[in-house]
Order: sequence, then C-alpha cells, then structure tokens
Amino acid sequence: MSLSFLNVSHAYDDTAVLSELNLSIDANQITCLLGPSGSGKSTLLRLAAGLENVQAGRIELGGELLASAEINPPPEARPVGLMFQDNALFPNMSVAENIAFGIQAASNVSRQARVSELLDMIGLSGYAERYPHQLSGGQQQRITLARSIAAEPQVLLMDEPYASIDVTLRGSLREAARLTLKANGMTSVLVTHDPYEAMEMADVIAVLDHGRIMQIGTPQQLFEQPAAVEVAQLFGAAQTIKVQASAGGVESEYGRVQIDWYPQAKLDNACCAVVRPEGLTMSPDPHGALRITDLRFVGEAWLAHLLPQDATAGAQPLRALAAHPLEFELGDSVSLNANPSGFYIFDKGHEINE
Ligand code: ADP
Repeated sequence: MSLSFLNVSHAYDDTAVLSELNLSIDANQITCLLGPSGSGKSTLLRLAAGLENVQAGRIELGGELLASAEINPPPEARPVGLMFQDNALFPNMSVAENIAFGIQAASNVSRQARVSELLDMIGLSGYAERYPHQLSGGQQQRITLARSIAAEPQVLLMDEPYASIDVTLRGSLREAARLTLKANGMTSVLVTHDPYEAMEMADVIAVLDHGRIMQIGTPQQLFEQPAAVEVAQLFGAAQTIKVQASAGGVESEYGRVQIDWYPQAKLDNACCAVVRPEGLTMSPDPHGALRITDLRFVGEAWLAHLLPQDATAGAQPLRALAAHPLEFELGDSVSLNANPSGFYIFDKGHEINE
C-alpha cells in the first residue's frame, strides 16, 4: 500500500525538523530515505510508526488516514512493520517462535505455514528449532527481517537496520533482504545515510537534506541527473569546485573546460560544478595547466591527482580517471576535457557544501 506524508511539519521543542513536507511512497516498492545524519529521516519513520505524534499535516496509508494531529493511533494499532538497528531477537525463543511472535492471532496451522514459507524465503529452512545464540549475526538479521514481515504489514519501516552489522556481511544481507521484500511485494521504507546501501536496495531514493526532499527518483536518475548539489555530491567520489562561465565552457582554479551539453544560459549562471573522476579525461599536453601529482591503480583504471602548475602547498588536488594501460607518468603535464557522465554544473544560489 502506498504511504503518503502530506504537509507534515515537525519540531522538537522549538527546533523545526520538518516543514510542510510532502512525500509519496509507492506501493510494492523499496524506497530509501537517504540523507546526512540529522536530516529528519528517522523522524519521518517514527511519525509513520506512531513512535512520535504528528504535530501538523497528515499521513495516509493506501489513501486512508493513518495519523494526523487529531488522530494518532499507537504503534501496535498500525498495520506497519518495524525493523530498527537494535531489533534483537528474543533470546529465550526459538527461531520459529521469534518469527511467529507477531502473528499470534492466526491459527496454529497457518502460523506454522507462514513461518516455514518465510524460512524458505530467507534460505534458513532447517533452522526453525534453533535459538538465537546458535546463529551467526547474519542469520539473526535475516530472521529479524522475517519476523518483521511475518504478520504481512501493509508497510515495513526500516531504520538503518544494518548499521551494527559487520561491513563484510552487509552486502549479502542487503541482497537477501531485497529479494525477500520483492518476493513479498512489500511496500518498504529504508532509512540510510549510505548512498551505496540506498543504491543496492532501493527502487526509489528520496534524498533528504535539512528536512527537505531534494530529489526523488530511481538510483539511475539520481546518479545521472542530480537536481541539486547535495544529490550530486552523494555518489562516486564527487568533488565540488567553484567555477565561472566562459564562452562554451567554465573556468576554475584547474583551468578551463569546454562544455557542450549545457546551454550557454546555464553556463552563464554557473557557480559550482560537482565533478566525479570519470567526468574528466586527461590529454598529454606539455603546455597543459595541470600536473599529475599522484597515480594509483584502482582496478580497470587509474586514479590521478591533478594540481595547477603553480599550486601552493596544501592545495586540493582534482581527481581524474585514466584508462588502463596507462599512458601517463607521475609529473606529466596534462590538459583536461570534461564529459557529461560526471561533470554537473549548478547555478548561483547553490552554496558549496563539501
Ligand atoms: P536523521 O534520521 O536524518 O539522522 P533525525 O530525524 O533523527 O535525523 O533528527 C533530525 C533532527 O532532530 C536532528 O537535529 C536531531 O538532533 C533532532 N532530534 C531527533 N530526535 C529528537 C528528540 N527526541 N528530541 C530532540 N531533538 C531530536
């Protein structure tokens, strides 16, 4: 079922966190709320879960009122599943009992059927009688997910569920979780500050910054067509540089680059560019404005650090990718070309926020 936040405002004491926010979360999709710490992601989730009272605006589930300033059902009265970072399994209950915990009302037979269906789905069918202490951290996490969706909630709310999990385990857990959620057609909302977690998990990403939705779209749309500096900065080792317009391109402390994929009016208004290493191509040029000050092999390509010839100590190098096999050496002079897949211009009015 779709979940909608309509003109939702929220303040803690006198500090406004959300201001007339509108966000629509599609049914049967995994939507990630992505943004830096303090941007209001958990507050949104807590409002939907009933862990925080709605102060202004309304939240709808499948087009029906879920909560407003007047009506705030407690969490247990909402058809909502929760999965938070510290959602431990009950240590004194078996795996099957843990999963069945939320479906007490159903008959014994249907409860058992649901438990085995879920255990199959998460690839742990032989584990029903084990206890949490007999399981690895990753297995426990998969069972926590199964427990959260066992009662077939209309929406599953997840707040950084993998934050306390070993980094090496996170990738496979996310993959398993995505497959399980998709197999159940579960409308899911995942809060994360990790852009790569969002990309791996999400059908749709909503980027939050200071309580505002900066952009909402597929991972590919956000990556390839970032609508705001804050969005462009999230992905791909981005750097933000100050630029000024110059006919058919922009100038920066790293020299001039020609740009033909933005109209001149956009270039005239340019104030900064968010640049990914793959958005720059180096050419050997004895009179080039830049010098290679570091070179590292990063798998399939090389990452070069570039500084102006007359750079002062402590200057910030620009990062550019070079193809393998490498046709450059440390200390070479180069000139730069920019390309559309990783060189994004933003207008005046955008502050540089590195
Ligand atoms: P995020 O999930 O994006 O990290 P939160 O929604 O947790 O952001 O918090 C948004 C802002 O509200 C932060 O500045 C945070 O310090 C503040 N905040 C969150 N919860 C409370 C609370 N219970 N009391 C006071 N301030 C809070």
